[in-house]
Amino acid sequence: MESIHQDVRISWNSVIKQMKEDGEYSVGLGVYLEGAKPIKIDGFKFIVAVPILISKKMIDARYKELIEWELAKITGKNYMLVTVVSDDPQKMQDDVIYPHHDENPTTIGVNSVNENYTFDNFVIGSSNNVATAAAYSTAEHPGKMYNPLFLYGKSGLGKTHLLHAIGNKIKQDHPDMNIIYVTSETFTSEFIDALKYGTTMDFKRKYRNAEVLLIDDVQFIERTEATQEEFFHTFNALYALNRQIVITSDRRPSDLIMLEERLRTRFSQGLTTDLSVPNYETRLLILKNKAQNYKANISEEVLEYVAERIKSNIRELEGALLKIVSMSQLSNIVVDINYAEEVIKSILPGDGIVKITPDKIIERVASFYKITPEDLTGKAKVKNFAFPRQVGMYLCHRLTDMNFKMIGNAFGGKDRSTVDHNVKKIEMMLEIRPELKEDINYIIKDLEKIY
Ligand code: ADP
Ligand code: MG
Repeated sequence: MESIHQDVRISWNSVIKQMKEDGEYSVGLGVYLEGAKPIKIDGFKFIVAVPILISKKMIDARYKELIEWELAKITGKNYMLVTVVSDDPQKMQDDVIYPHHDENPTTIGVNSVNENYTFDNFVIGSSNNVATAAAYSTAEHPGKMYNPLFLYGKSGLGKTHLLHAIGNKIKQDHPDMNIIYVTSETFTSEFIDALKYGTTMDFKRKYRNAEVLLIDDVQFIERTEATQEEFFHTFNALYALNRQIVITSDRRPSDLIMLEERLRTRFSQGLTTDLSVPNYETRLLILKNKAQNYKANISEEVLEYVAERIKSNIRELEGALLKIVSMSQLSNIVVDINYAEEVIKSILPGDGIVKITPDKIIERVASFYKITPEDLTGKAKVKNFAFPRQVGMYLCHRLTDMNFKMIGNAFGGKDRSTVDHNVKKIEMMLEIRPELKEDINYIIKDLEKIY
């Protein structure tokens, strides 16, 4: 036992040392790792305790991958970094409280329901009351009310939250039910792996044994015929047995043009309902609840100010609050309106809505491919830069309303036809290379975070 703890400490200390040597140990990271203690290794989990919630949130959001990467370099194993909050890490050694992975349950590839997202902590307003009611009655009567239930809405409006809330309620009422939560990306990649390793029977068994299947972000399902075919059969098999299916997407079924017609038809045969942008009162209520959760003492005036300024995305609303709370905790100041304004200004480019800009795209793509923004926008005909450049152009085309000429300008003055050609090239590659799609979805998710 003791030797395991020893190992954990040695690895952790080496990781910190290595990060310092590599120049990766930034001031921010230092602040969040203040008081952090390695607890133990449990299978593939490397568990570290931090004293405050903000540190956990920030490490999970910003530094998890870096640390996992360093851990892999040091230990030769692919550990998953798990942060837990404890004010007395010494006491934790053996009775570690396992956190449920919030934020992004999909990145760890576990098909399980996230207990942090419940109906209890979902604020209801006119933007989501119909969807919430539908979700709730679906959870009360799985397989009997609406099948499938199809929830759609733009990013950051609560689809994933409601999906897990359904899972949690069903789990509470029927502890033995087999509930599977999966994103369409995970479904796709598991299926592709199953084909590769000849384990399609296991794959089929797993999904066809679901008593409740919660599919998140169905718009990302692979375009290939085989995956859609498999999905169609899974759907039909479960549907025929009255198993509950809930699907989320960023658009209504009829607009899922990458899906086969027969799938669109299937999706529409239950109830389709949407989540829209919350009004001011709802936004304020959400902020108040979250502030309470963080045990943060933020004045009503500041919360009102934030609710006024950030309008279109609850994830951004939370992000702004988190930033304010963490700043106030770290520097021990009382946040006033002026301060909140500074924070919001640093998030918003002026018009009250966080926008994905070409600069941000260039920055994220460069960082993803480990080159500099200048490499990405420069003229050098280096092979290593050409592909990231194409990806950057593709993302500008997909995520902003810039035309090819504007995109060309953002990339150091390339002409319209070059941009057109590059975008088409990536679109074509996406059809045949699933790993590229994963990379691109990863970058998009990264861009959607406000950090
Ligand atoms: P989507 O899946 O639609 O992109 P999420 O469900 O991930 O959005 O929501 C983004 C964040 O906002 C989550 O942390 C979620 O808990 C929170 N959130 C969204 N809607 C509400 C709400 N009505 N009440 C409380 N929190 C919410
Ligand atoms: Mg979601």
